[in-house]
Amino acid sequence: MLEPYLERLTAFQTARVLFDWDESTIEPPMSNSLTSKVVGTLAMEEYQILSDSTYQELVMELKDNKELSLKEATVVKELAKDIERTSKIPAEEYKEFTILVSQAGSIWAKAKNNNDYASFAPTLGKLIAFQKKFAGYRRKTGQDLYDVLLGDFEEAFDKKALDAFFARLKEEIVPLLKEVSKKNDEIDTGFLTLSYDTKKQDSFNRELARYLGFDFEKGVIAESEHPFTTNLHNRDVRITTHYYENQLDSAMFSTIHETGHALYEMNIADELTQTPAGGGASAAMHESQSRFYENIIGRSKAFWEPLYGKLQETFPEQLGNVSLDTYIRAINKAQASLIRTESDELTYCLHIMVRYELEKLMIESDVDVMELPKLWADKYEEYLGVRPKTDTEGILQDIHWSFGEFGYFPSYALGNAFASQIYAQMEKEMDVEAILRSGDISPIQKYLAEHIHQYGMTKNSRELILDVCGEDFTPDYYVEYLKDKYKRIYEL
Ligand code: ZN
Repeated sequence: MLEPYLERLTAFQTARVLFDWDESTIEPPMSNSLTSKVVGTLAMEEYQILSDSTYQELVMELKDNKELSLKEATVVKELAKDIERTSKIPAEEYKEFTILVSQAGSIWAKAKNNNDYASFAPTLGKLIAFQKKFAGYRRKTGQDLYDVLLGDFEEAFDKKALDAFFARLKEEIVPLLKEVSKKNDEIDTGFLTLSYDTKKQDSFNRELARYLGFDFEKGVIAESEHPFTTNLHNRDVRITTHYYENQLDSAMFSTIHETGHALYEMNIADELTQTPAGGGASAAMHESQSRFYENIIGRSKAFWEPLYGKLQETFPEQLGNVSLDTYIRAINKAQASLIRTESDELTYCLHIMVRYELEKLMIESDVDVMELPKLWADKYEEYLGVRPKTDTEGILQDIHWSFGEFGYFPSYALGNAFASQIYAQMEKEMDVEAILRSGDISPIQKYLAEHIHQYGMTKNSRELILDVCGEDFTPDYYVEYLKDKYKRIYEL
């Protein structure tokens, strides 16, 4: 019987999620030195279940069982993936890798603070070597190493699919950005950086989340340094935001983004939640939902028509004389910059493209790690027209590689493209703009819950796109959406 193992696993994982949440939000400063011991013990318990030989045999026996329901088959598939991933790697090597990863985070953070890439480079080199070796153990005959890593995050998109996707973006978005950059002086964003009382921001943000469908009976909003979403199950979904007194749009669009993630988790079917099939289809599909709300809906004029008056009432001194059109242009300004997490809707994918191209080099060639900062800077200059002066604002900016995580970045870009394709289909089935203007956007939320959220992991992202849109994934909708939008905003 697998059931008792899963119940214990769920319990330990739920506890860990809750401790993680607590650490990022309200934990008192002195707590961690002692609480971390408890968390370590819980993690050990979880590890012991996962490495228990009876448990592993049960999963692998069930893997080819044709009698399983879709839910059961999905659960077993997810569990088997983890077992297969680790069982092919010699235990000693895996242990060495785990130790390296546990040290790499602080080495990276120090290097980033001191703008000292050379002190992180040897660690990065070792992490790359481990992942290449591990991918080699795991690969199917003829499979490329980077495809093994990409498959951990998005099973339906390999390098060939992503090469075609990014090539299309490069061809269309790089020239569009050049056009947009020439006219950037015309867009005024100064009023967004006046002083905005953070308590007032907080109450407006809560109303905004509620308006989008965030259910406060099943969720809470807190503050943290970096906004994120986590959940215990579909009746306890937690998001965070971060208020800046001098940047009104920052918290609002973080809240909208995280609410998009939260709605996904709140609407996963009851029979799937609290099982290993009870998450989003993939990181990219999750990101598609947050960006759908943040960018496609949340930055549109129709969305703000019923809301902007309330925002003006909340901040009459700052926004009383700012028209809706001026506001919409400001929240859609696109400007090439160096930092991914601060980038806008148009340039975001170009930041991802740089990382994707470098990851391919790291995993599939023998590139010298000391050459990476220059390659990074060259690519930024070529695609975005800006060149980092330091490695802190260049190759050291993201944490992902210090976890030994390669192959995740493309998810962010795919998520944007999924969102555009889903939006195009939604428009065929309902008058989305009229719904936004009406002040009741529940039909949009219901559409996504019904067509995407409820399925959890029982369909992969490509199957979801096919079922929702009636056609396979294509970047066309995304490219068209961006071209159309920025030509309109910038009057090109
Ligand atoms: Zn997100």
